[in-house]
Amino acid sequence: MLSIPIFEQPLFMNTIYIQLGSNMGERHFYIKESLLQIEKILGTIIYESKTYESSAWGVTEQRNFLNKVISVKSDFSAKDTLKTLQKIEDKLGRKRTEKWGERTIDLDILFYNNEIINTKELTIPHPYIQDRRFILMPFAEMNGKFIHPKLKKDIFALLKECKDTEKVSVYEI
Ligand code: ATP
Ligand code: CA
Ligand code: CA
Repeated sequence: MLSIPIFEQPLFMNTIYIQLGSNMGERHFYIKESLLQIEKILGTIIYESKTYESSAWGVTEQRNFLNKVISVKSDFSAKDTLKTLQKIEDKLGRKRTEKWGERTIDLDILFYNNEIINTKELTIPHPYIQDRRFILMPFAEMNGKFIHPKLKKDIFALLKECKDTEKVSVYEI
């Protein structure tokens, strides 16, 4: 049997795309702190988009969000990735109140490799990617040619078709 020597095996075999969002308190601090925690626990951040500011999606009368997308190389499973992100959210004071309520930090898994996962606690690809310019715009900056494994279209095409009218712009610090 042909086996690959350990040292030639990739250490982090999964590419995980994550969306970060904050619309409470020191928004930029929560994003930065999440990035540090992700690097510490989950894996290596390969790409970090610019920070974008967007008006709150699906709700009115909430403060604007700061958003970012990243890609991470990790050997964590999708399930363990979710658990880890929820731990980081908890650590950063995320309170789970009403749906789409204000939050210090929201960490969503957008894609996990090219996989399609549907379990009780996990839907991958994230179900609203194609409906949210605050995800599509930073993602297009990172990798517009990435093919959505379920919709079979790339991010540039999804952005073109997207009907979302909420304002999204690069945030200057
Ligand atoms: P939305 O899903 O519309 O962005 P939200 O981020 O506000 O809403 P949360 O309250 O943060 O929703 O999460 C609710 C649940 O969503 C979590 O407990 C988690 O089990 C589930 N979930 C399903 N798919 C995913 C995913 N791809 N990434 C993160 N959480 C997910
Ligand atoms: Ca979310
Ligand atoms: Ca979430």
